[in-house]
Amino acid sequence: MIGDRAVRNVVIVGGGTAGWMAAASLAKILGKSISVTLIESDEIVTVGVGEATVPPLIQLHCYLEINEQEFLAFVKGSIKLGISFENWKNINENYGHMFGKPGKSTWAADFQHFWLRGKELGVHNPLSDYSLESKAAQHNKFIHMPNASLNYAYHLDAGFYAKFLRNIAEKAGASRIEGTVVNVALDEDDYIKSIELASGQIVEGDLFIDCSGFRGLLIEQALHTGYEDWSHWLPCDTAVAVQTESVRDPVPYTRAIAHPAGWQWQIPLQHRVGNGLVYCSRYISDDDAKKLLLENIDGRLITEPKIIKYRTGQRLKHWNKNCVALGLASGFIEPLESTSIHLIFRGILRLIQMFPSAGIRACDVDEYNEQMKVEILNVRDFIILHYHLTNRTDSPFWQYCKNMEIPESLEQRMRMFRETGKVFVKSYELFFESSWIQVMLGQGLIPENYHPVANEMPADDLVKFLADIRAQVNQTLQKMPTHKDYLDFYCKATDWN
Ligand code: FAD
Repeated sequence: MIGDRAVRNVVIVGGGTAGWMAAASLAKILGKSISVTLIESDEIVTVGVGEATVPPLIQLHCYLEINEQEFLAFVKGSIKLGISFENWKNINENYGHMFGKPGKSTWAADFQHFWLRGKELGVHNPLSDYSLESKAAQHNKFIHMPNASLNYAYHLDAGFYAKFLRNIAEKAGASRIEGTVVNVALDEDDYIKSIELASGQIVEGDLFIDCSGFRGLLIEQALHTGYEDWSHWLPCDTAVAVQTESVRDPVPYTRAIAHPAGWQWQIPLQHRVGNGLVYCSRYISDDDAKKLLLENIDGRLITEPKIIKYRTGQRLKHWNKNCVALGLASGFIEPLESTSIHLIFRGILRLIQMFPSAGIRACDVDEYNEQMKVEILNVRDFIILHYHLTNRTDSPFWQYCKNMEIPESLEQRMRMFRETGKVFVKSYELFFESSWIQVMLGQGLIPENYHPVANEMPADDLVKFLADIRAQVNQTLQKMPTHKDYLDFYCKATDWN
């Protein structure tokens, strides 16, 4: 049993985004104390999607000393300021969930309270008028701002991203074995002892990281960890993905367009567009979904449409014995808010913080699992919110979503916002107050009250305060270049990778 044995050899199974993110991070940060080996099979393709991200990825890139210009040029990436949600509340009504906080908050109360009082005083500008990210997205503009005051993330090509990370991992000393895992050997305590490849090679390790995708080769097939299913709350179970040639300049946001049995994504990169439809197979067949997607995209197809089946939920433990699951092997929440790559990053960060160099201890394992669980449950609730809080009843899918029971944690958050206009988030939450506020308002939940501090300001001052923020946003916007011009200047896609 490994219990008190020092962990020196880390074996990663899988060379998708999760595998190479883990290999690059572990080799770069702990490479002097451990050896990192990654096994990937040329015969088993990666999932090949996963192209929109959230801002904390920039933090991982800082830890890995990644040069942003080189990275964006290599992955042919573009900028993401947020997501445009189209037809979610009602057909033909859109709103944005943008990174960053709209307006100006005070320590006593967030900006929405002042905005709500402004509405009472006849100032009916949408919340997005107070957000530089929203206005820049609407006008297709971007520039890096001082003090990171314009929040952004990336759109990237998943295949190039894995390649980019592989370069970093190998430079930092990680080794790669090409081969297909055919057997996993356990010791007398059911810890993983070694992995056998089709070639007959045996790879031993102290700690195994399962990045084998949906199949969960180690965490599930070998260790039978179990799975918590959330499909009653998130009923979409299939996606069809296809890449197309660009027919216009890339916009600096992801589009999420609701359809009668799911929603469609559009992710513009520098050299092409990633498209897909996420849907519930109870309400639309694969053939009809494919047809619907193809009818709603522009540009010549670059790839054949690919159907991906999934089951929403998470492993009962992300870290079980001497195996940590990352990426799709650990569970999956659909891509509506681009959270999967972020959760891989969070898993890696935690593993490094709790790294069991002197042996695997229950306290580390329990803490890791608890933190992952809290973080993921909050992501889950946030995604359910988009489906449940809708006026749409035009299809059986939307009727189901609108009428389904939701987790008490989400119920409570919606109740608080409805009754008081307030949102509070806890530690480990990816989505801050401003995200919840934008989506709740965008989906049509208008609070009945606002914080009394908004009444402390004389009416004329409040109207001026709001007008000044809008003017400042517009002034800054005027000085910004277009997204396309900025990409060409800063990180034009390279052709040589
Ligand atoms: P995979 O990419 O499936 O890689 C699995 C690896 O395991 C491969 O290298 C394979 O060769 C290897 N392997 C498997 N079996 C064996 C074996 N027997 N022997 C050896 N090797 C083996 N995330 C986001 O953050 N943003 C998004 O916009 C987003 N969109 C998505 C859209 C869809 C439709 C889906 C399904 C997912 C999306 N995701 C998104 C999630 C994202 O794609 C994944 O989190 C990410 O790609 C990581 O995948 P992975 O590395 O875990 O698995």
